[in-house]
Amino acid sequence: MSLRAVVAAVVDPEIRVVTIDELGILRDVAEDPDTGRVTVTITPTYTGCPAMDVIRADIRHALSVAGHPDTDVVTVLAPAWSTDWISESGRAKLAAAGIAPPGPVRRDGPVRLTLTVACPRCGSAETEQVSRFGSTTCKALWRCRACREPFDHLKAL
Ligand SMILES: [Zn+2]
Repeated sequence: MSLRAVVAAVVDPEIRVVTIDELGILRDVAEDPDTGRVTVTITPTYTGCPAMDVIRADIRHALSVAGHPDTDVVTVLAPAWSTDWISESGRAKLAAAGIAPPGPVRRDGPVRLTLTVACPRCGSAETEQVSRFGSTTCKALWRCRACREPFDHLKAL
């Protein structure tokens, strides 16, 4: 298993069905050939998500188990993480877990419209936002008018 694969398999502590690679958080994994020191570069998701400290610890732990105890986790803020970076497999897993994947971020106008969020359970577009904050600050709580099920929606960013 490559070092990249070891780190890529770390799951998001809040949304445990997807890995940090699928979320687009993982930017780079590099090993210094002389010292063996591993440098992992990540870009945090939503500010206010306390998950990043856990992710850093999980990365160090995964590499340590793989025989690389000497690890640096570097945070890069630019370019800023966007929900557009979530991979196709990541979106599919989110939907399977009942979390509506974010739509594309609109950058083409001053008004940020809330696009219709399809119900991850029945696929209906007859949905409404119940609360701006779901189970975590990164998610909004939505409800489906067709099947009446509430679901979390990852805010597009
Ligand atoms: Zn539904």
